[in-house]
Amino acid sequence: LNEGLRCIGCGALMQVEDKNKVGYLPMSALKKSISSEELFCQRCFRLRHYNEIQPVELTDDDFANLLHQISDTKALIVYVIDVFDVTGSAISGLPRFVGKDNPILVVANKVDLLPKLLNKNRLKNWLRAELKAQGIQPVDVFLTSATRPKNLDDLLGTIDDLRDGRDVFVVGVTNVGKSTLINQIIKSRTGIQNLITTSRFPGTTLDRIEIPLEDGQQLIDTPGIIKRDQMAHVLTDKDLKFALPKNEIKPRTYQLNPEQTIFIGGLARFDFISGARSAITAYFENNLNLHRTKLIGADDFYEQHAGGLLVPAPSQPQNLIKHEFSITEDSDIVFSGLGWISVPAGIKVAGWAPKGVSVLIRKAMI
Ligand code: GDP
Repeated sequence: LNEGLRCIGCGALMQVEDKNKVGYLPMSALKKSISSEELFCQRCFRLRHYNEIQPVELTDDDFANLLHQISDTKALIVYVIDVFDVTGSAISGLPRFVGKDNPILVVANKVDLLPKLLNKNRLKNWLRAELKAQGIQPVDVFLTSATRPKNLDDLLGTIDDLRDGRDVFVVGVTNVGKSTLINQIIKSRTGIQNLITTSRFPGTTLDRIEIPLEDGQQLIDTPGIIKRDQMAHVLTDKDLKFALPKNEIKPRTYQLNPEQTIFIGGLARFDFISGARSAITAYFENNLNLHRTKLIGADDFYEQHAGGLLVPAPSQPQNLIKHEFSITEDSDIVFSGLGWISVPAGIKVAGWAPKGVSVLIRKAMI
């Protein structure tokens, strides 16, 4: 080992001591690799043989450093977002750090979760408006489902047209499906699999995955920026898994009178405070129980039934926090990361969620 054996994937010095550091390979595997002349570190080995990207963590310093490097490069930015959680997908300051000359292609992932009948052009326009509010004016918005991509070739074609000879940086917060997407791209390009390498962003401890493109440029996967999922703070992993949508959401519509309440499991609550009798539509995981009751007894009802009739409930018992909204146009009341309820103009409502989970209003998506 002291002779300075290097991984032929990423060039790291091989070591057998610390599996969290670069160049690690268990001793047994190292012995085998030396005899077979295939000297890959464990991370490159997994990438090569299982198309598996192992996540790396990100400190603020590393992140700032990385962003700076992108703004200094001529590149196409592929910004992956989750259509089910557009606000939670936002990378603050993205337009600033990508540099004003670098175009941004937005890949809106997980469209399989939205109702199939949804008009796709309308959705794209809606996304453009939401992104504009974040200061982002994408050159294009591409809808996809990384778990079952039917239009991967279209996406790769679009990337190729837009990048115009430049490198491609893929960015996104954790959990939007960026790794799933990259793994699909790698799979669809099995011929080049052997050429995929990992290296570091200069001056950081961050790995980048480089997928060579035909003209010698690269598609570069950047580490997922960790945005602690707010719901993840208040739920156990098992409950979180239960509460998040896995399949196409079946919208649930209610004709509500004022002074009625709907509990979303034990996690959130919606009050119709005042206004004319209205239809509201809820978009949540299909198995998540919605329970309608009277506003007047709702506080007591929650106290009695949270964790019983109303599940899942926060793992630490806590009161829900109230956020009131007067609705002036067709809007969604969004329970961050959990789902939303669409409401018509002219009524007054409240959304309640555990402390630390934001409730906000946006123009209706659907
Ligand atoms: P990353 O942190 O951005 O790399 O996200 P992952 O690729 O690890 O995906 C996060 C979660 O979202 C996983 O449970 C994936 O199975 C799921 N996921 C990824 N893409 C899709 C998609 O297109 N549709 C659905 N329904 N789930 C997805």
